[in-house]
Amino acid sequence: MSTSDISQQSMHSVEEALDLLLSNVRPITDIESVHTMQTLGRVLAEARYSRINVPPADNSAMDGYAVASRDIMPEASGKKEIKLPVSQRITAGRAGNPLVPGTAARIFTGAPVPLGADTVVMQEYCRLDEDGMVTIQTPVTPGVNVRYAGEDITKDDQILAAGTKMAPQHMGLAASTGLEELPVYRRLRVAVFCTGNELVEPGQPLKSGEIYNSNRYTLVGFLTALGCEVVDIGIVRDDLETTQEALLTAAEQADLIITSGGVSVGDEDYVKIAVNRLGQIEMWKIAIKPGKPLAFGNVRSIPIIGLPGNPVSLFVTFCLFARPFILRLQGMKDVKPKSISAVADFEWPAANKRRQFLRGKLNGAGNGNATIKIYPHQGSGVLTSTGWADGLAVIPENRAVKRGDTMNFLPFSELLS
Ligand code: AMP
Ligand code: MG
Repeated sequence: MSTSDISQQSMHSVEEALDLLLSNVRPITDIESVHTMQTLGRVLAEARYSRINVPPADNSAMDGYAVASRDIMPEASGKKEIKLPVSQRITAGRAGNPLVPGTAARIFTGAPVPLGADTVVMQEYCRLDEDGMVTIQTPVTPGVNVRYAGEDITKDDQILAAGTKMAPQHMGLAASTGLEELPVYRRLRVAVFCTGNELVEPGQPLKSGEIYNSNRYTLVGFLTALGCEVVDIGIVRDDLETTQEALLTAAEQADLIITSGGVSVGDEDYVKIAVNRLGQIEMWKIAIKPGKPLAFGNVRSIPIIGLPGNPVSLFVTFCLFARPFILRLQGMKDVKPKSISAVADFEWPAANKRRQFLRGKLNGAGNGNATIKIYPHQGSGVLTSTGWADGLAVIPENRAVKRGDTMNFLPFSELLS
């Protein structure tokens, strides 16, 4: 990489910039074994296979009576009801005895179906008589209400692929096959700092010319949701020495450095110069609105992503670029968010070659019929828009939006974890 003057560069499309970024990822390789209970959000390092059938044995899907279907066939008896003696009672967690031919076994949901039985009649279709016999309404479909051994998972089946980001359902699935520990990649360590002489932390009074450091909170929130360990370096003043020191501290402790601000072309933008002294940096002009400038480079071989300081630009560029980069570093393969199709309930002008990401809210059901409203104020400093919205409405390059147009929408659920 070389330093290049942003003003002389052509603009990258979102796809070009993302592909460039992802081509630079060297995913984490350190693996640790973690109790299945602690794996939420962690990335599985190796595929897992089941050592057992699930369920391990044929069992009842209902509370009722287990029978051999040949004993309840109406053809055999010519009656609408069949009366059988109840020979045993099988509750969940207990293995019953083999079914005595010509009898029924009282059985409960999850209990093993006894040898010799192949059908469970729901208790709603049965009447227990005072003589201890059960009267069963016929006809009964042979084989009903039995969950067969291996119906969910067959022994040796792959249950989890390498690169799976563990969600609650994956934790349950692993536990259903008895897996107590799972091999996951170690947590990614991400160092963050925010540049700007104007920044003050919440809790401090604001003096003239100062603003609160909101980007630090947005970034730490993003990173925590992504399961990263955060090395929080705080505010870094607009000064070359201080910026260099912060970069070195970050590079010593982290797998990735993310910074806020100081990457445009102003005199007080030191991130670019400081990174260039310690490593390499490229400034990318990306054809998006909000959030045009993005810096990418490395300090002592540690990758650094420099996000723009405007709070909404930072929010959008984190979602579009930093998040997929982090997911890939964590060992995931599928890192691009999936958009849905919805109908614009607003009008908006084109921004020439720039793709626009408006903060919007979805109304109504899916099937492409949901409508999108946008926050009325879409300025790159208006953080309120991100709190109000539930996703980003995507306006393609060189396109204006008319009410009723179909467009893509990126729900925050695709972007925030
Ligand atoms: P910069 O990218 O440093 O030129 O900053 C662009 C704009 O974003 C300026 O108005 C800054 O005051 C604002 N800004 C920069 N950093 C932060 C931050 N950490 N929190 C809130 N606003 C910020
Ligand atoms: Mg600044």
